[in-house]
Amino acid sequence: MLQVLNPATEEVVATVPAAGPEDVDAAVARAAAAQTAWAAAAPADRARLLRRFAAVVDAHTEELALLEVREAGHTLGNARWEAGNVRDLLDYAAGGAERLNGRQIPVRGGLDVTILEPLGVVGVIAPWNFPMPIAAWATAPALAAGNAVVLKPAETTPLTALRLAELALEAGLPDHLFQVLPGEGPVAGNALVEHPGIAKIVFTGSTRTGRHVMARAADQVKRLTLELGGKSPNIVFADADVEAAAAAAPMAFLDNSGQDCCARTRILVQRSVYDRFLALLAPAVEATVVGDPLDERTQMGPLISRAQLDRVRGYVPEGAEAIRGKAPEGPGFWYPPTVLTGLPEDAPCAVEEVFGPVAVVLPFEDEADAIRLANATPYGLSGSIWTRDVGRALRTSRAVRAGNLSVNSHSSVRYWTPFGGFGRSGLGRELGPDALTAFTETKNVFLSTEA
Ligand code: NDP
Repeated sequence: MLQVLNPATEEVVATVPAAGPEDVDAAVARAAAAQTAWAAAAPADRARLLRRFAAVVDAHTEELALLEVREAGHTLGNARWEAGNVRDLLDYAAGGAERLNGRQIPVRGGLDVTILEPLGVVGVIAPWNFPMPIAAWATAPALAAGNAVVLKPAETTPLTALRLAELALEAGLPDHLFQVLPGEGPVAGNALVEHPGIAKIVFTGSTRTGRHVMARAADQVKRLTLELGGKSPNIVFADADVEAAAAAAPMAFLDNSGQDCCARTRILVQRSVYDRFLALLAPAVEATVVGDPLDERTQMGPLISRAQLDRVRGYVPEGAEAIRGKAPEGPGFWYPPTVLTGLPEDAPCAVEEVFGPVAVVLPFEDEADAIRLANATPYGLSGSIWTRDVGRALRTSRAVRAGNLSVNSHSSVRYWTPFGGFGRSGLGRELGPDALTAFTETKNVFLSTEA
């Protein structure tokens, strides 16, 4: 059994049975049968059912949000956004079912067309940091493209995914088309990766586990999308609106308690404005409201688990220079907002993914130095660039090796724009106009007119 704890109180919220390899076998067999009929349905019918699923999610956003608060410790505002994001993903993907067009390519002696065939049964392995949206990022387009989905949520956060599967049935989706199997990663997750009936794995989590999944999937040349870690820069040039950059910097790494693969945890500041930036940043970090996730004024909740709390603590060097906010005492996995200064560029917390409310500030000299520092990690997921110079914004955007950049803002993820990483941040892209094609194989068909 899996025990689900409320990270803000350490109280047991639920216990859930853990799936073993035999449960994965049975689920994949049921999914395969459901997928055959689903793929044969008219695209407009698939779209209609997915829109109905979106409407049912919409009617349950508050319930889903409260469940996310209890199992993941997310602030209520964030959790409401997340439930709405699931609805929007389903709506957006539904439209894709009706627009999954192949091409007609000019040839001599016939007609050549491409057909985007569904893959079959897709295995989704989701993390605990955004349990609902990340599950839906893969599930919505996979279903819309004519696939079935077996989803393994993280051990710590299975409840919203289980509820979404119930809501799918309430909306009229066929039985077994979307199944949720809570379980341990090395058991249920691994069984999905190794199962010959699973055509593709979409994995979101650590680079370490992602590498393992990739190696195990290689035996069957299994299709993969990997959304892995990040260590994203927030580059502040001297010509920027420094006040605006400092005001926005805290929530760019504190949102979701820093448990965000896009968190801007490397704040790179041009040396000529470094002291001014820190003087503006300190009160903004100290003023962050950390506490009860159900209080609408709260900006940051707890970390997900004691293991994560210990991991985050382990990254902060004893006696380091720091700006620190406040965090509650007592039960719950709390860590205060923390900004470290005066560290070497290659300190572990400056180059590795901490996944907690901890950022480092490093000075740079000029544009070339900023780009060098921004690219000095094996990751390449996100980043922000603050400058008033349009040419510099464009040059830096081109030079930083990352999949999702944002100028004078910290936006990264919209369901209608592509998302994914360079380097060890992942493989493939999710979301955006091409989300469905990642769940298809392109088949080319030539029809002769000569016979
Ligand atoms: P993992 O990458 O281990 O977990 C992500 C998912 O993979 C979970 O569902 C997990 O299951 C599953 N999993 C674990 N082992 C296997 C396996 N052998 N085969 C298949 N699936 C598996 O992350 P952790 O929870 O251990 O978090 C550690 C660190 O990873 C964080 O501190 C953070 O740096 C990074 N991380 C990054 C995320 C991102 O969005 N990029 C998301 C989550 C973590 P289970 O829950 O049972 O372990």
